Amino acid sequence: MSFTHAFASLILVLQLTAACTHTATQSPASITDHDAITTLRDGNHRFTSKQTLHPRQDQARLAEMSKGQAPEVVVVSCSDSRVPPEIVFDQGLGDIFSVRTAGHALDAYAVGSVEYAVEALGAKVILVLGHTSCGAIKAALTTPVGVSTGSPNIDQLVKSIRPGLKTADAADKEFIQAAKNNVDAAIAYLKQHSALISRALEQKKVKIVGGLYYLNTGEVAIW
Ligand SMILES: [Zn+2]
Repeated sequence: MSFTHAFASLILVLQLTAACTHTATQSPASITDHDAITTLRDGNHRFTSKQTLHPRQDQARLAEMSKGQAPEVVVVSCSDSRVPPEIVFDQGLGDIFSVRTAGHALDAYAVGSVEYAVEALGAKVILVLGHTSCGAIKAALTTPVGVSTGSPNIDQLVKSIRPGLKTADAADKEFIQAAKNNVDAAIAYLKQHSALISRALEQKKVKIVGGLYYLNTGEVAIW
């Protein structure tokens, strides 16, 4: 089987999967008719104002989701335990397709995961979400170039995000500007390293936006 043939087969499988999941997950609680970014903003407002609803986390939703998923949103974010997307956006089962690595560092596996959500599941929005006081960013900015962190795997992660940070402002204790730069760099990476995502953006099948989560307030700023 040629590479082209194999790739065409993969896309066919993805499309068939998407067809199955879309028909299986229509529900009154679906957010399909709303702007997905507004839904995230509203959920974050509930979270910060102590008015969380914990929506779509009941047995009915569990049963519905066992048949398939059609999340509107892909969140590409840091693995940090203080920034779980479903909690900070007050969302439920099947609402958010999460791709998380420390510092939201991207590689082929992470990009492929985003592609799957867009192509097979029909996600409409990709949100790359950074956060203040990120440990991965701190490691990248404070470990001298050429010096090991002590692990070749963490070295690779740090090396991959360092160029996008663009700043080493010692006065910025929470690494806020570096985190924003890291988000913008990840958005650029997704566009540059995925023909599938670039095409979906051109065809306006998906939007890509950036955001920053503030650890001290729980607020997310989306741009
Ligand atoms: Zn982090």
